[in-house]
Amino acid sequence: MRKKIVAGNWKMNKLMDEAVALTSELVNMANDEVKSDVKVILCPPAIYLTTINKYIESAPNFSLAAQNCSDKVSGAFTGEISAAMLQSIGVEYVLIGHSERRQYFNEDNALLAEKVNTALANGISPIFCCGESLDQRQNEDYIGFVKNQISESLFHLTAEQLQSVVIAYEPIWAIGTGLTASAEQAQDMHAALRAHLADKYGKEVAEEISILYGGSVTAASAAELFASPDIDGGLVGGASLKSREFTNIIKAR
Ligand code: 13P
Repeated sequence: MRKKIVAGNWKMNKLMDEAVALTSELVNMANDEVKSDVKVILCPPAIYLTTINKYIESAPNFSLAAQNCSDKVSGAFTGEISAAMLQSIGVEYVLIGHSERRQYFNEDNALLAEKVNTALANGISPIFCCGESLDQRQNEDYIGFVKNQISESLFHLTAEQLQSVVIAYEPIWAIGTGLTASAEQAQDMHAALRAHLADKYGKEVAEEISILYGGSVTAASAAELFASPDIDGGLVGGASLKSREFTNIIKAR
Protein backbone atom coordinates (compact mmCIF):
# COMPACT_ATOMS: atom_id res chain seq x y z
CA MET A 1 0.00 0.00 0.00
CA ARG A 2 1.34 3.38 -0.99
CA LYS A 3 1.75 6.01 1.70
CA LYS A 4 -0.89 8.75 1.74
CA ILE A 5 0.92 12.03 2.21
CA VAL A 6 -0.09 15.65 2.59
CA ALA A 7 2.89 18.00 2.68
CA GLY A 8 2.86 21.73 3.38
CA ASN A 9 5.58 23.79 1.71
CA TRP A 10 5.74 27.06 3.58
CA LYS A 11 8.31 28.48 1.14
CA MET A 12 9.86 31.75 2.47
CA ASN A 13 6.97 32.65 4.77
CA LYS A 14 6.30 33.09 8.51
CA LEU A 15 8.39 34.57 11.31
CA MET A 16 9.41 32.31 14.20
CA ASP A 17 6.43 33.02 16.46
CA GLU A 18 4.03 32.59 13.55
CA ALA A 19 5.69 29.31 12.55
CA VAL A 20 5.33 27.97 16.09
CA ALA A 21 1.70 29.11 16.33
CA LEU A 22 0.79 27.48 13.01
CA THR A 23 2.46 24.21 14.02
CA SER A 24 0.74 24.13 17.42
CA GLU A 25 -2.66 24.72 15.80
CA LEU A 26 -2.04 22.01 13.21
CA VAL A 27 -0.95 19.46 15.80
CA ASN A 28 -3.98 20.18 17.98
CA MET A 29 -6.41 19.94 15.07
CA ALA A 30 -4.75 16.81 13.72
CA ASN A 31 -4.85 15.05 17.08
CA ASP A 32 -8.57 15.79 17.33
CA GLU A 33 -9.64 15.25 13.74
CA VAL A 34 -7.22 13.38 11.50
CA LYS A 35 -7.10 9.69 10.64
CA SER A 36 -3.74 8.21 11.53
CA ASP A 37 -2.90 6.68 8.14
CA VAL A 38 -2.15 10.05 6.53
CA LYS A 39 1.44 11.22 6.82
CA VAL A 40 1.68 14.98 7.27
CA ILE A 41 4.98 16.55 6.26
CA LEU A 42 5.75 20.14 7.20
CA CYS A 43 8.37 21.95 5.10
CA PRO A 44 9.22 25.13 7.04
CA PRO A 45 12.18 27.37 6.28
CA ALA A 46 15.38 25.60 7.41
CA ILE A 47 16.00 28.05 10.25
CA TYR A 48 12.86 26.78 12.05
CA LEU A 49 13.32 23.03 11.60
CA THR A 50 14.83 22.31 15.02
CA THR A 51 12.16 24.30 16.83
CA ILE A 52 9.26 22.91 14.83
CA ASN A 53 10.55 19.40 15.46
CA LYS A 54 9.82 19.85 19.18
CA TYR A 55 6.28 20.99 18.48
CA ILE A 56 5.41 17.91 16.38
CA GLU A 57 6.60 15.40 18.99
CA SER A 58 3.05 14.72 20.17
CA ALA A 59 1.80 14.07 16.63
CA PRO A 60 3.21 10.70 15.52
CA ASN A 61 2.05 11.05 11.91
CA PHE A 62 3.86 14.39 11.43
CA SER A 63 7.34 14.59 9.87
CA LEU A 64 9.64 17.35 8.73
CA ALA A 65 11.07 18.18 5.34
CA ALA A 66 13.66 20.76 4.41
CA GLN A 67 12.93 22.80 1.31
CA ASN A 68 16.36 22.19 -0.16
CA CYS A 69 19.80 20.74 0.57
CA SER A 70 23.26 21.07 -0.88
CA ASP A 71 24.55 18.58 -3.43
CA LYS A 72 27.90 18.73 -1.59
CA VAL A 73 28.90 16.64 1.42
CA SER A 74 30.60 19.34 3.55
CA GLY A 75 33.22 22.05 3.40
CA ALA A 76 33.66 25.58 2.11
CA PHE A 77 30.20 26.24 0.68
CA THR A 78 29.04 29.34 2.55
CA GLY A 79 25.32 29.47 3.16
CA GLU A 80 24.65 25.87 2.22
CA ILE A 81 23.07 23.12 4.35
CA SER A 82 24.07 19.49 3.88
CA ALA A 83 21.84 16.44 3.98
CA ALA A 84 23.92 15.10 6.88
CA MET A 85 23.13 18.25 8.88
CA LEU A 86 19.42 17.79 8.19
CA GLN A 87 19.65 14.17 9.27
CA SER A 88 21.45 15.20 12.48
CA ILE A 89 18.49 17.33 13.59
CA GLY A 90 15.84 14.72 12.81
CA VAL A 91 14.64 15.79 9.37
CA GLU A 92 13.25 12.86 7.37
CA TYR A 93 12.46 14.39 3.97
CA VAL A 94 13.81 17.06 1.65
CA LEU A 95 12.18 18.79 -1.31
CA ILE A 96 14.40 18.44 -4.34
CA GLY A 97 13.85 20.18 -7.66
CA HIS A 98 11.00 22.48 -6.74
CA SER A 99 10.23 24.60 -9.83
CA GLU A 100 11.19 27.76 -7.92
CA ARG A 101 14.66 26.32 -7.32
CA ARG A 102 14.90 25.23 -10.94
CA GLN A 103 13.79 28.67 -12.15
CA TYR A 104 15.46 31.12 -9.73
CA PHE A 105 18.55 29.12 -8.76
CA ASN A 106 19.22 27.42 -12.09
CA GLU A 107 19.02 23.90 -10.70
CA ASP A 108 19.10 21.41 -13.56
CA ASN A 109 18.38 17.70 -13.77
CA ALA A 110 22.03 16.70 -13.35
CA LEU A 111 22.49 18.80 -10.19
CA LEU A 112 19.22 17.46 -8.81
CA ALA A 113 20.45 13.89 -9.35
CA GLU A 114 23.42 14.78 -7.10
CA LYS A 115 21.10 16.21 -4.45
CA VAL A 116 18.99 13.05 -4.59
CA ASN A 117 22.15 11.01 -4.05
CA THR A 118 23.36 12.98 -1.05
CA ALA A 119 19.89 12.92 0.54
CA LEU A 120 19.62 9.15 0.16
CA ALA A 121 23.18 8.60 1.37
CA ASN A 122 22.16 10.32 4.60
CA GLY A 123 18.90 8.45 5.08
CA ILE A 124 16.69 11.34 3.98
CA SER A 125 13.83 10.71 1.55
CA PRO A 126 13.75 13.08 -1.41
CA ILE A 127 10.40 14.56 -2.40
CA PHE A 128 11.32 14.99 -6.03
CA CYS A 129 9.37 17.77 -7.76
CA CYS A 130 8.68 17.88 -11.47
CA GLY A 131 6.29 19.65 -13.79
CA GLU A 132 5.89 21.58 -17.04
CA SER A 133 5.33 25.27 -17.81
CA LEU A 134 2.20 26.57 -19.52
CA ASP A 135 4.14 27.12 -22.72
CA GLN A 136 5.37 23.54 -22.65
CA ARG A 137 1.85 22.23 -22.02
CA GLN A 138 0.50 24.20 -24.96
CA ASN A 139 3.32 23.73 -27.44
CA GLU A 140 5.38 20.66 -26.61
CA ASP A 141 5.29 17.01 -25.63
CA TYR A 142 4.77 18.03 -22.01
CA ILE A 143 4.35 14.50 -20.72
CA GLY A 144 7.66 13.59 -22.37
CA PHE A 145 9.26 16.65 -20.75
CA VAL A 146 8.20 15.63 -17.23
CA LYS A 147 9.14 11.99 -17.82
CA ASN A 148 12.58 13.22 -18.83
CA GLN A 149 12.96 15.22 -15.61
CA ILE A 150 12.39 11.96 -13.77
CA SER A 151 14.68 9.87 -16.00
CA GLU A 152 17.56 12.32 -15.74
CA SER A 153 17.40 12.84 -11.98
CA LEU A 154 16.17 9.47 -10.68
CA PHE A 155 16.78 6.64 -13.13
CA HIS A 156 20.36 6.06 -11.98
CA LEU A 157 18.92 4.81 -8.65
CA THR A 158 18.46 1.16 -7.78
CA ALA A 159 14.90 -0.06 -7.25
CA GLU A 160 15.62 -0.21 -3.53
CA GLN A 161 16.77 3.41 -3.46
CA LEU A 162 13.78 4.53 -5.51
CA GLN A 163 11.48 3.14 -2.84
CA SER A 164 12.62 5.94 -0.51
CA VAL A 165 11.65 8.61 -3.04
CA VAL A 166 8.34 10.48 -3.16
CA ILE A 167 7.44 12.22 -6.41
CA ALA A 168 5.50 15.49 -6.54
CA TYR A 169 3.98 16.56 -9.84
CA GLU A 170 3.59 20.33 -9.76
CA PRO A 171 2.64 21.94 -13.07
CA ILE A 172 4.27 25.38 -13.01
CA TRP A 173 1.15 27.01 -14.44
CA ALA A 174 -0.81 25.85 -11.39
CA ILE A 175 1.63 27.02 -8.71
CA GLY A 176 0.44 30.09 -6.84
CA THR A 177 -1.96 30.98 -9.66
CA GLY A 178 -5.24 29.71 -8.24
CA LEU A 179 -5.45 27.61 -11.39
CA THR A 180 -5.54 24.03 -10.06
CA ALA A 181 -5.06 21.27 -12.60
CA SER A 182 -8.32 19.37 -13.01
CA ALA A 183 -8.43 15.99 -11.35
CA GLU A 184 -8.42 14.49 -14.86
CA GLN A 185 -5.35 16.47 -15.99
CA ALA A 186 -3.48 15.51 -12.84
CA GLN A 187 -4.54 11.87 -12.95
CA ASP A 188 -3.44 11.59 -16.62
CA MET A 189 0.04 12.84 -15.74
CA HIS A 190 0.33 10.74 -12.59
CA ALA A 191 -0.67 7.59 -14.51
CA ALA A 192 1.87 8.42 -17.23
CA LEU A 193 4.61 8.93 -14.64
CA ARG A 194 3.76 5.69 -12.87
CA ALA A 195 3.87 3.86 -16.22
CA HIS A 196 7.25 5.48 -16.86
CA LEU A 197 8.51 4.17 -13.49
CA ALA A 198 7.08 0.74 -14.33
CA ASP A 199 8.93 0.66 -17.68
CA LYS A 200 12.21 1.15 -15.85
CA TYR A 201 11.67 -0.61 -12.49
CA GLY A 202 8.72 -2.93 -13.05
CA LYS A 203 5.08 -2.57 -12.11
CA GLU A 204 5.48 -3.81 -8.56
CA VAL A 205 8.01 -1.11 -7.67
CA ALA A 206 6.05 1.61 -9.50
CA GLU A 207 2.90 0.73 -7.59
CA GLU A 208 4.66 1.46 -4.30
CA ILE A 209 5.84 5.00 -5.14
CA SER A 210 3.70 7.82 -3.76
CA ILE A 211 3.03 10.54 -6.34
CA LEU A 212 1.72 13.81 -4.92
CA TYR A 213 -0.01 16.60 -6.80
CA GLY A 214 0.88 20.25 -6.15
CA GLY A 215 -0.38 23.53 -7.56
CA SER A 216 -3.11 25.68 -5.98
CA VAL A 217 -4.52 22.80 -3.92
CA THR A 218 -7.25 24.07 -1.58
CA ALA A 219 -9.68 22.42 0.80
CA ALA A 220 -12.28 22.83 -1.96
CA SER A 221 -10.25 21.04 -4.67
CA ALA A 222 -8.46 18.44 -2.54
CA ALA A 223 -11.12 15.75 -2.24
CA GLU A 224 -11.65 15.34 -5.97
CA LEU A 225 -7.91 15.32 -6.67
CA PHE A 226 -7.18 12.80 -3.92
CA ALA A 227 -9.98 10.50 -5.10
CA SER A 228 -8.05 9.84 -8.33
CA PRO A 229 -6.38 6.42 -8.36
CA ASP A 230 -2.81 7.59 -9.00
CA ILE A 231 -2.87 10.72 -6.82
CA ASP A 232 -1.52 9.73 -3.41
CA GLY A 233 -1.72 13.11 -1.75
CA GLY A 234 -0.67 16.71 -2.13
CA LEU A 235 2.18 19.16 -1.87
CA VAL A 236 0.46 22.33 -0.76
CA GLY A 237 1.88 25.86 -0.82
CA GLY A 238 -0.30 28.84 0.05
CA ALA A 239 -3.10 26.84 1.65
CA SER A 240 -0.63 25.17 4.04
CA LEU A 241 -0.04 28.51 5.77
CA LYS A 242 -3.54 28.49 7.29
CA SER A 243 -4.18 25.86 9.95
CA ARG A 244 -7.93 25.37 9.31
CA GLU A 245 -7.52 25.16 5.54
CA PHE A 246 -4.53 22.80 5.69
CA THR A 247 -6.24 20.55 8.23
CA ASN A 248 -9.24 20.31 5.92
CA ILE A 249 -6.92 19.31 3.08
CA ILE A 250 -5.36 16.62 5.27
CA LYS A 251 -8.84 15.39 6.14
CA ALA A 252 -9.71 15.16 2.43
CA ARG A 253 -6.92 12.61 1.96
P1 13P B 1 0.57 26.68 -4.17
O1 13P B 1 -0.23 25.64 -3.45
O2 13P B 1 0.66 27.98 -3.44
O3 13P B 1 0.11 26.82 -5.59
O4 13P B 1 2.08 26.15 -4.24
C1 13P B 1 2.31 24.86 -4.66
C2 13P B 1 3.74 24.52 -4.42
O5 13P B 1 4.62 25.06 -5.06
C3 13P B 1 4.05 23.57 -3.34
O6 13P B 1 5.38 23.20 -3.39
